[in-house]
Amino acid sequence: NDATEISPKDIDQLARTSFPLCMRHMLEKVRHLKSYVHGLPLDQGAGLKLEDALTFWRSEFSQKVGSERFDKEYAYSIRHNYGKEGKRTDYTSYSCQKIISATPGVGDHHGCPYRHFGEENLRAALNNMGVGGNALEGILDKVKNRHYQLACTMTFEATHGVSCDTGINHPNQYFSESQKVLQA
Ligand code: SF4
Repeated sequence: NDATEISPKDIDQLARTSFPLCMRHMLEKVRHLKSYVHGLPLDQGAGLKLEDALTFWRSEFSQKVGSERFDKEYAYSIRHNYGKEGKRTDYTSYSCQKIISATPGVGDHHGCPYRHFGEENLRAALNNMGVGGNALEGILDKVKNRHYQLACTMTFEATHGVSCDTGINHPNQYFSESQKVLQA
């Protein structure tokens, strides 16, 4: 069982196969330069190291903002998120429950899509993950009944073709369960 070390260039591939919807959404939004301060909830669960994260974000942002400005403004936010500077806020400890009960502000992208997307957006996002038909309707049904983590678990099951008896309770756990299935 080798510890997985993730390099920035692997992130797209991993996002496609193993990210839960919340992290996919954040990654997408981050690429539009909006939500950098929230960072990726990845470092503990997946072995993304601070320096890798900095390299990743730098490559995402520096074409847009210039590398000098990146180092001045953005690197600080990233280090801050990883608990290296300023207040030791650890975003990686956010469980699904906490994410679901949070109220994202306008322009924030760190909520739970099952809870915070409208139906149309959620449908589109799930379609994008290759989920359709009965599976999709079943998931939307759970959402209507406010069983968001169950909806996420069903998405995991639909996209991985296995049952997930423990249920999903943390974005990093979704990721590691996914890697377990894919590497089995
Ligand atoms: Fe992310 Fe948890 Fe919501 Fe799934 S249930 S999308 S892992 S916050």
